Amino acid sequence: MSRTSDYSVVNPHTVAGARSRLTGTARLRLLLIEDNPRLSEYVAVALRGHGFAVDIVDNGADAESAVMATSFDVIILDLGLPDIDGLDWLGAMRRRLDQTPVLILTARDGVQDLVLGLNTGADDYLRKPFEMNELVARIRALLRRPGHALGVELIQGNVSLNTNTRVLVVAGTLVDLGRREFSVLEILLRRADRVVPKAAIEEAIYSYGEEVASNAIEVLIHRVRKRMQDAHANVYIHTLRGAGYMLTNAPT
Ligand code: CA
Repeated sequence: MSRTSDYSVVNPHTVAGARSRLTGTARLRLLLIEDNPRLSEYVAVALRGHGFAVDIVDNGADAESAVMATSFDVIILDLGLPDIDGLDWLGAMRRRLDQTPVLILTARDGVQDLVLGLNTGADDYLRKPFEMNELVARIRALLRRPGHALGVELIQGNVSLNTNTRVLVVAGTLVDLGRREFSVLEILLRRADRVVPKAAIEEAIYSYGEEVASNAIEVLIHRVRKRMQDAHANVYIHTLRGAGYMLTNAPT
Protein backbone atom coordinates (compact mmCIF):
# COMPACT_ATOMS: atom_id res chain seq x y z
CA MET A 1 0.00 0.00 0.00
CA SER A 2 1.78 3.07 -1.16
CA ARG A 3 -0.91 5.63 -0.66
CA THR A 4 -0.22 8.04 2.15
CA SER A 5 -2.57 10.56 3.58
CA ASP A 6 -2.00 13.51 5.82
CA TYR A 7 -5.22 13.01 7.76
CA SER A 8 -3.15 12.10 10.80
CA VAL A 9 -0.29 14.54 10.48
CA VAL A 10 -2.02 17.90 10.26
CA ASN A 11 0.24 20.26 12.13
CA PRO A 12 -1.79 22.49 14.46
CA HIS A 13 0.76 25.26 14.10
CA THR A 14 0.60 25.62 10.36
CA VAL A 15 -0.99 28.65 8.79
CA ALA A 16 -3.50 26.34 7.14
CA GLY A 17 -4.74 25.01 10.45
CA ALA A 18 -5.15 28.51 11.80
CA ARG A 19 -6.88 29.68 8.67
CA SER A 20 -9.39 26.85 8.52
CA ARG A 21 -10.19 27.39 12.19
CA LEU A 22 -10.83 31.07 11.53
CA THR A 23 -12.94 30.79 8.43
CA GLY A 24 -14.41 27.36 8.90
CA THR A 25 -13.76 26.60 5.24
CA ALA A 26 -12.58 23.25 3.95
CA ARG A 27 -8.93 22.90 3.03
CA LEU A 28 -8.16 22.32 -0.60
CA ARG A 29 -7.14 18.77 -1.36
CA LEU A 30 -4.47 17.87 -3.87
CA LEU A 31 -3.54 14.47 -5.28
CA LEU A 32 0.11 14.06 -6.14
CA ILE A 33 0.80 11.15 -8.52
CA GLU A 34 4.57 10.72 -8.58
CA ASP A 35 6.73 7.61 -8.32
CA ASN A 36 9.92 9.29 -7.17
CA PRO A 37 9.56 9.14 -3.37
CA ARG A 38 12.09 11.86 -2.64
CA LEU A 39 10.45 14.26 -5.05
CA SER A 40 6.90 13.48 -3.89
CA GLU A 41 7.85 13.90 -0.23
CA TYR A 42 9.60 17.19 -0.94
CA VAL A 43 6.67 18.53 -2.96
CA ALA A 44 4.07 17.30 -0.44
CA VAL A 45 5.83 18.90 2.52
CA ALA A 46 6.11 22.20 0.64
CA LEU A 47 2.46 22.17 -0.47
CA ARG A 48 1.25 21.30 3.02
CA GLY A 49 3.26 24.27 4.20
CA HIS A 50 1.15 26.38 1.83
CA GLY A 51 -2.03 25.09 3.48
CA PHE A 52 -3.05 22.35 1.07
CA ALA A 53 -4.06 18.85 2.13
CA VAL A 54 -1.96 16.48 0.00
CA ASP A 55 -2.43 12.79 -0.78
CA ILE A 56 0.41 10.94 -2.50
CA VAL A 57 0.23 7.87 -4.72
CA ASP A 58 3.11 6.45 -6.75
CA ASN A 59 1.34 4.54 -9.52
CA GLY A 60 -1.67 4.72 -11.83
CA ALA A 61 -3.70 1.99 -10.13
CA ASP A 62 -3.54 3.64 -6.71
CA ALA A 63 -4.27 6.99 -8.33
CA GLU A 64 -7.39 5.44 -9.84
CA SER A 65 -8.52 4.17 -6.42
CA ALA A 66 -7.86 7.58 -4.90
CA VAL A 67 -9.96 9.53 -7.42
CA MET A 68 -12.75 6.96 -7.13
CA ALA A 69 -12.78 7.22 -3.34
CA THR A 70 -12.82 11.00 -3.07
CA SER A 71 -12.38 14.01 -5.27
CA PHE A 72 -9.54 16.45 -5.42
CA ASP A 73 -9.34 20.14 -6.17
CA VAL A 74 -6.22 19.72 -8.31
CA ILE A 75 -4.29 16.63 -9.47
CA ILE A 76 -0.53 16.84 -10.06
CA LEU A 77 0.44 14.10 -12.46
CA ASP A 78 3.89 12.76 -13.30
CA LEU A 79 3.95 11.35 -16.83
CA GLY A 80 6.48 8.57 -16.21
CA LEU A 81 4.68 6.15 -13.90
CA PRO A 82 5.66 2.50 -13.34
CA ASP A 83 2.37 0.91 -14.44
CA ILE A 84 0.89 3.33 -16.97
CA ASP A 85 1.84 6.34 -19.04
CA GLY A 86 0.52 9.44 -17.28
CA LEU A 87 -1.13 10.65 -20.49
CA ASP A 88 -3.07 7.38 -20.81
CA TRP A 89 -4.16 7.70 -17.21
CA LEU A 90 -5.31 11.26 -17.86
CA GLY A 91 -7.14 10.25 -21.03
CA ALA A 92 -9.10 7.57 -19.14
CA MET A 93 -9.99 10.06 -16.45
CA ARG A 94 -11.29 12.63 -18.95
CA ARG A 95 -13.33 9.96 -20.73
CA ARG A 96 -15.14 9.43 -17.43
CA LEU A 97 -15.97 13.16 -17.68
CA ASP A 98 -13.93 13.88 -14.58
CA GLN A 99 -13.09 17.59 -14.97
CA THR A 100 -10.71 17.91 -12.02
CA PRO A 101 -7.91 20.31 -13.03
CA VAL A 102 -4.72 18.40 -13.84
CA LEU A 103 -1.21 19.80 -13.86
CA ILE A 104 1.36 17.59 -15.59
CA LEU A 105 4.90 17.20 -14.31
CA THR A 106 7.21 16.02 -17.01
CA ALA A 107 10.88 15.36 -17.45
CA ARG A 108 10.21 15.04 -21.17
CA ASP A 109 11.12 18.12 -23.06
CA GLY A 110 9.56 17.23 -26.37
CA VAL A 111 7.10 19.90 -27.43
CA GLN A 112 4.96 17.13 -28.93
CA ASP A 113 4.50 15.49 -25.55
CA LEU A 114 3.31 18.75 -24.08
CA VAL A 115 0.93 19.44 -26.93
CA LEU A 116 -0.36 15.89 -26.60
CA GLY A 117 -0.74 16.41 -22.85
CA LEU A 118 -2.80 19.54 -23.29
CA ASN A 119 -4.90 17.84 -25.98
CA THR A 120 -5.46 14.88 -23.67
CA GLY A 121 -7.00 17.19 -21.12
CA ALA A 122 -4.21 18.54 -18.96
CA ASP A 123 -4.86 22.07 -17.75
CA ASP A 124 -1.25 23.06 -17.33
CA TYR A 125 2.23 21.55 -17.18
CA LEU A 126 5.59 22.07 -15.56
CA ARG A 127 8.92 20.72 -16.71
CA LYS A 128 11.22 19.08 -14.19
CA PRO A 129 13.18 20.42 -12.48
CA PHE A 130 10.87 23.17 -11.33
CA GLU A 131 10.77 25.78 -8.60
CA MET A 132 8.30 25.13 -5.78
CA ASN A 133 7.06 28.72 -6.01
CA GLU A 134 6.25 28.14 -9.65
CA LEU A 135 4.29 24.99 -8.81
CA VAL A 136 2.31 26.77 -6.09
CA ALA A 137 1.56 29.68 -8.43
CA ARG A 138 0.31 27.30 -11.14
CA ILE A 139 -1.89 25.42 -8.67
CA ARG A 140 -3.39 28.68 -7.41
CA ALA A 141 -4.05 29.75 -11.00
CA LEU A 142 -5.93 26.49 -11.65
CA LEU A 143 -7.96 26.98 -8.49
CA ARG A 144 -8.94 30.50 -9.56
CA ARG A 145 -10.56 29.26 -12.73
CA PRO A 146 -14.30 29.81 -12.67
CA GLY A 147 -16.28 26.71 -11.89
CA HIS A 148 -13.42 24.98 -10.17
CA ALA A 149 -12.47 24.53 -6.56
CA LEU A 150 -12.46 28.19 -5.65
CA GLY A 151 -15.44 28.82 -7.91
CA VAL A 152 -17.55 31.00 -5.73
CA GLU A 153 -20.96 29.62 -6.55
CA LEU A 154 -21.61 25.93 -5.94
CA ILE A 155 -24.91 24.97 -7.53
CA GLN A 156 -26.67 21.63 -7.44
CA GLY A 157 -30.38 21.28 -8.15
CA ASN A 158 -32.17 24.17 -6.44
CA VAL A 159 -29.33 24.62 -3.93
CA SER A 160 -26.85 27.42 -4.41
CA LEU A 161 -24.02 28.08 -1.98
CA ASN A 162 -21.68 31.04 -2.29
CA THR A 163 -18.35 30.25 -0.65
CA ASN A 164 -17.28 33.91 -0.54
CA THR A 165 -20.35 35.56 0.93
CA ARG A 166 -21.37 32.34 2.72
CA VAL A 167 -24.91 32.81 1.49
CA LEU A 168 -27.02 29.70 1.00
CA VAL A 169 -30.14 29.79 -1.13
CA VAL A 170 -32.49 26.80 -1.40
CA ALA A 171 -35.51 26.87 -3.71
CA GLY A 172 -35.18 30.65 -3.94
CA THR A 173 -35.14 31.18 -0.18
CA LEU A 174 -32.25 32.29 2.01
CA VAL A 175 -31.33 29.53 4.47
CA ASP A 176 -29.29 29.94 7.66
CA LEU A 177 -26.82 27.24 8.60
CA GLY A 178 -24.34 26.99 11.45
CA ARG A 179 -20.66 27.40 10.59
CA ARG A 180 -19.85 23.70 10.69
CA GLU A 181 -23.07 22.66 8.98
CA PHE A 182 -22.25 25.14 6.20
CA SER A 183 -18.79 23.60 5.79
CA VAL A 184 -20.27 20.09 5.64
CA LEU A 185 -22.66 21.16 2.90
CA GLU A 186 -19.84 22.95 1.05
CA ILE A 187 -17.70 19.81 1.02
CA LEU A 188 -20.59 17.64 -0.16
CA LEU A 189 -21.51 20.12 -2.91
CA ARG A 190 -17.91 20.37 -4.13
CA ARG A 191 -17.89 16.60 -4.44
CA ALA A 192 -21.47 16.10 -5.58
CA ASP A 193 -22.18 12.58 -6.90
CA ARG A 194 -18.97 11.34 -5.29
CA VAL A 195 -18.43 9.52 -2.03
CA VAL A 196 -16.95 11.78 0.62
CA PRO A 197 -15.32 9.72 3.40
CA LYS A 198 -16.29 10.68 6.94
CA ALA A 199 -12.59 11.16 7.74
CA ALA A 200 -12.32 13.79 4.98
CA ILE A 201 -15.17 15.77 6.52
CA GLU A 202 -13.67 15.50 10.00
CA GLU A 203 -10.27 16.54 8.73
CA ALA A 204 -11.71 19.58 6.96
CA ILE A 205 -13.87 20.78 9.81
CA TYR A 206 -11.99 20.05 12.99
CA SER A 207 -8.49 21.17 13.78
CA TYR A 208 -5.79 18.80 14.91
CA GLY A 209 -6.02 17.77 18.54
CA GLU A 210 -9.57 19.06 18.86
CA GLU A 211 -11.84 16.70 20.79
CA VAL A 212 -14.34 15.24 18.31
CA ALA A 213 -17.23 13.13 19.56
CA SER A 214 -17.48 9.83 17.69
CA ASN A 215 -20.91 10.74 16.32
CA ALA A 216 -20.11 14.43 15.62
CA ILE A 217 -20.22 14.09 11.84
CA GLU A 218 -23.44 12.05 11.97
CA VAL A 219 -25.04 14.80 14.04
CA LEU A 220 -23.89 17.52 11.61
CA ILE A 221 -25.09 15.52 8.60
CA HIS A 222 -28.43 14.95 10.29
CA ARG A 223 -28.85 18.70 10.86
CA VAL A 224 -27.88 19.62 7.30
CA ARG A 225 -30.21 16.97 5.89
CA LYS A 226 -33.08 18.26 8.04
CA ARG A 227 -32.46 21.88 6.95
CA MET A 228 -32.36 20.81 3.32
CA GLN A 229 -35.63 18.88 3.67
CA ASP A 230 -37.37 21.75 5.47
CA ALA A 231 -36.24 24.14 2.73
CA HIS A 232 -37.51 21.76 0.01
CA ALA A 233 -34.10 21.13 -1.50
CA ASN A 234 -34.07 18.69 -4.38
CA VAL A 235 -30.66 17.33 -3.47
CA TYR A 236 -30.21 14.48 -1.02
CA ILE A 237 -27.44 13.42 1.32
CA HIS A 238 -27.00 9.67 1.34
CA THR A 239 -25.21 7.68 4.00
CA LEU A 240 -23.08 4.89 2.57
CA ARG A 241 -22.30 2.59 5.47
CA GLY A 242 -18.59 2.25 6.05
CA ALA A 243 -17.77 4.50 3.09
CA GLY A 244 -19.02 7.98 3.84
CA TYR A 245 -21.60 10.37 2.44
CA MET A 246 -22.75 11.41 -1.00
CA LEU A 247 -24.89 14.31 -2.16
CA THR A 248 -26.95 13.62 -5.29
CA ASN A 249 -30.09 14.73 -7.10
CA ALA A 250 -31.70 11.33 -6.57
CA PRO A 251 -33.80 10.74 -3.43
CA THR A 252 -32.66 7.12 -3.13
CA1 CA B 1 8.36 9.26 -12.85
